[in-house]
Amino acid sequence: MKIKRNILLNPGPATTSDSVKLAQIVPDICPREKEFQSVMRPICSDLVKIVHGKEEDYTAVLFCGSGTVCMDAVLNSLLADGKKALVISNGAYSRRAADILRSYGLPFEEMIQPEDSLPDLTLVEAVLKANKNIGYVYMTHHETGSGLLNPIRETGRLAHRYGAFFITDTTSSYAMMPVNVYEDNIDFCMASAQKGIAGMTGLSYVIGRRDIIEESRNYPKRSYYCNLYMQYAYFERTGEMHFTPPVQTVYAARQALDEYFMEGEQKKWKRHQRIMAAIHEGEDRLGLKEALDRSAQSGLVSAVLYPDDPEWNFQSIHDYCYERGFTIYPGKLETERTFRLCAMGMVDEQDIRLFWDVFEDALASIGVRIPVIYHKACNERNVSKK
Ligand SMILES: *Cc1c(COP(=O)(O)O)cnc(C)c1O
Repeated sequence: MKIKRNILLNPGPATTSDSVKLAQIVPDICPREKEFQSVMRPICSDLVKIVHGKEEDYTAVLFCGSGTVCMDAVLNSLLADGKKALVISNGAYSRRAADILRSYGLPFEEMIQPEDSLPDLTLVEAVLKANKNIGYVYMTHHETGSGLLNPIRETGRLAHRYGAFFITDTTSSYAMMPVNVYEDNIDFCMASAQKGIAGMTGLSYVIGRRDIIEESRNYPKRSYYCNLYMQYAYFERTGEMHFTPPVQTVYAARQALDEYFMEGEQKKWKRHQRIMAAIHEGEDRLGLKEALDRSAQSGLVSAVLYPDDPEWNFQSIHDYCYERGFTIYPGKLETERTFRLCAMGMVDEQDIRLFWDVFEDALASIGVRIPVIYHKACNERNVSKK
């Protein structure tokens, strides 16, 4: 079977290998069969292994849904009565976390920080000092909307010092850059099969501390479908997900995990960095500027500022590239118009070189000047300072 290969530079789903795509084609099976359980359990073990957790300390809880289902589950399930959450908010995904808490009517402190630089940890400490009842601190590891990489290790350490536990959204860093739950002070992290492991959409997972999940058994149940303890306990007891799993996506995840371990953590991270180096190289050649200083970037997402050329039109550029097999994606910064180039899936630097040739043709096709022009210098732009 020949499947057209598209290069997805959007922030997930990512480009997958043909072997992962084809792994979905399996005989029909009822997911309540033992045979299916024997696929699921090792997947959970492998998901814990990716972030170097020991299975006596950490477990993976699977959910059917996109990555947001994990944010929902941890945020609503892990807050004890009388406790408050602390969300460090410096991007689209931490704003989403605050929205989730708001929609459950849960008490939380939202510490709003600039979107283009690292948060002020002395303020985090001040909030923890002033509020004795913080149950957990929540931080997005990699803010996919901008490409900002947050200091989880230091923030997790602070949370622990003040008796709170630490939840981090690693959806767009997990299985791409090395993460270690012990060294990075992580009690809970999460991801989705369509991102780091380059699997299919529809399967997402929380990796977290067993003892805290056990303790949360007595916390208020605020959701029926998205409750972490209920999903965990059912799986522990039966080896099955509580409700129907995304069967074919699970088979694809199995294959994707095999390919992850075959490539290896360090080699894979090197490849992602190589892809980003090729992205940066093309930006420099065409004069494209980014919203974030490279020193603050994750190395997985580049948010490119729209050029000031009057002929610039994102949709036209997007369509031109899309027709040739390359997908680019709008940015998510509040105050700047950007588009994003992501170094996520099963691609490599030669794909990016081909992309830049197409992108350059796209600019020429609508008469955008090369190198591209900006009226303001980057440091005058003042991205999202509040
Ligand atoms: C992709 C992503 C999510 C989940 O988004 P979905 O659209 O639900 O898949 C959550 N957090 C971060 C940081 C992400 O990059």
